[in-house]
Amino acid sequence: MNIDIQTTKFEALLAENAQLKKQYQQFKIKERYLKVINDFATSILPHNTVEDIVWEVAKNAIAHLDYEDCVVYLIDEKREYLIQMAAYGPKNPIELDILNPMKIKIGEGIVGTVAKTGIPEIIADTRKDPRYIVDDQVRLSEISVPIVTDTNNVIGVIDSENSKTNFYSQADVTILKTIASITATKILKAKAREEMERSNKALEQFAYIASHDLREPLRMIASYAQLLEKNYQSVLDERGEMFLNFLMDGAKRMNLLINDLLTYSRLKKKDEELQLIDLEEVMEEVLTNLEFIIEENEGVIEKEPLPKIRGYYSQTVQLFQNLINNAIKFKSEQDPHIQIKVKDRMSEYLISIKDNGIGIAPEYHEQIFQVFQRLHNRNEYEGSGIGLAICKKIVENFGGKIWVESEQGSGSTFWVTLLK
Ligand code: ADP
Repeated sequence: MNIDIQTTKFEALLAENAQLKKQYQQFKIKERYLKVINDFATSILPHNTVEDIVWEVAKNAIAHLDYEDCVVYLIDEKREYLIQMAAYGPKNPIELDILNPMKIKIGEGIVGTVAKTGIPEIIADTRKDPRYIVDDQVRLSEISVPIVTDTNNVIGVIDSENSKTNFYSQADVTILKTIASITATKILKAKAREEMERSNKALEQFAYIASHDLREPLRMIASYAQLLEKNYQSVLDERGEMFLNFLMDGAKRMNLLINDLLTYSRLKKKDEELQLIDLEEVMEEVLTNLEFIIEENEGVIEKEPLPKIRGYYSQTVQLFQNLINNAIKFKSEQDPHIQIKVKDRMSEYLISIKDNGIGIAPEYHEQIFQVFQRLHNRNEYEGSGIGLAICKKIVENFGGKIWVESEQGSGSTFWVTLLK
């Protein structure tokens, strides 16, 4: 073979080999990127408070990206300052303990600029950047990436410094941007949860105090109305007697409302662990408690064998009692026919309570689970409008869900998931 042809072929092979090596290196970098993101996503997933999340971010940068340090700042409520929330590395050797938290005005320094512009920055040599703020000691390069939400709102900055110049590359920006985006979602969710919990607590406290304080004056109204009835009925004319009846009726209804509200506000999640509860036993008690109204309405209850679930006994009785009571109370022209079925779904049971009652129009399917939400006036059906709110709270305390499927006029099915 001609030597020239051989050389050309060899060169071509070499070129191809070099190209493949380059491609392989690029895939290796991408794979590393995926691994870092995967490790990060997995480790941050179980964390649900803002504090835990920011510390996990700071720790992870050190663990997976070989950084010397990592600092997470969040923007304060007035959007004036970045507050250092977590720092990991030599500056802060003790976990969860910021020795000297920094506060940087938005627009000032490198992190302040990144918070303002929302654009990531790499500083190859901090000595040449007048914005560099010396914290504990001078470090020669820095990377600063904004934490941006889906709606393009900057809520903080992830920042790292290194003792060498030119330490950070564009690949670090790419990784940190993805990390920052996951972080933003987690932080927003944690904040929403904190807000919700605060609001729930305030609501519960209000409900408890209000219902508790209302009991005493109500008792007084009711007992004086009874005294009037007992001792002065003979001197009351027809109108007077009618007014007195309204008064007693009102007091009775208010008593029902207050009792239900008290029950609702007392349904706290207990510290003790959920117990294994036999639903057959629960149902037996419910059917005994409702014996009278079932018979009176000629109701038929059909049920599959029921399993054991995780919960607290008396709350489970209350849950099923409210649901079955409603299924009878909101009956249609036909006699009530209730079917209780169970589906086994991995870690939980899905229980359905189906009735042939008046049904609920789809636009009310969420509303009925809120306190005091009723679809009928009290002349049509007695009730406080708290029963389903109590059910929802109980089910959620047990780690489950409750919802309804129904069309007006064609019965309702309430679905409940309960842990095994
Ligand atoms: P209450 O029964 O005291 O009114 P609930 O919180 O138990 O309060 O129920 C809220 C509303 O949801 C009821 O007023 C009723 O309009 C509707 N509802 C509940 N259960 C059923 C059912 N099985 N069939 C039809 N409507 C129902």
